[in-house]
Amino acid sequence: MQAEVRLQIAQIVPCTEAEGPGHRFAIWFQGCPLRCPGCCNPEFIPFEGGESMSLGEVLAAIDRARAEGIEGITLLGGEPLAHASGASFLASAVRDLGLTVMVFTGFTIKEAQSQRNPDVDRLIELTDILVDGPYLSELPDTSRRWIGSTNQRIHFLTNHYRADDPCWQERNTLEIRVRGSEVSVNGFPARQAVGLWKKPKVTERRGG
Ligand code: SF4
Repeated sequence: MQAEVRLQIAQIVPCTEAEGPGHRFAIWFQGCPLRCPGCCNPEFIPFEGGESMSLGEVLAAIDRARAEGIEGITLLGGEPLAHASGASFLASAVRDLGLTVMVFTGFTIKEAQSQRNPDVDRLIELTDILVDGPYLSELPDTSRRWIGSTNQRIHFLTNHYRADDPCWQERNTLEIRVRGSEVSVNGFPARQAVGLWKKPKVTERRGG
């Protein structure tokens, strides 16, 4: 069963400090049913597109990133809970490797639990940090690192991370990668970078 699992992926950043504590392997899923006004990743809303990868391929990439010292993975969107079946297999496998799991979801945790979807429940069970609620551009959060808007809540679902860790109060992080003619940006959308990510061949990625 696990060998057949496939994940519809919009973007991967193998080692980032802009999507949660420590160095993390970040995965953006392709497809989100929520369609929030002012969505920060509108190109990730359609369920068509992205790249279909097997669980084994994703785990192999995560294994390579372990050499760079990642402590966990972060799942973003698109909407990770709309991909909960594959995402829960992935979360289970990375937990077995001793890595942590952080999830950004546009649903509130109550909405997620009320779906009564066993895959969603399983993914939440395997999550160390859940950031819930949609990104709302009119409510920018300037005090919590990695968090886009003030409506979003951080749920520490295991003892692995703590709310009083000073890392949450540090300045937010924006990462810019240049590979040939392609520029990718992920993390907090600093105002100075707005012009940059509107240029052609530039993509911006952050939690939805
Ligand atoms: S902000 Fe996030 S939850 Fe809302 S439509 Fe965009 S990707 Fe989906």
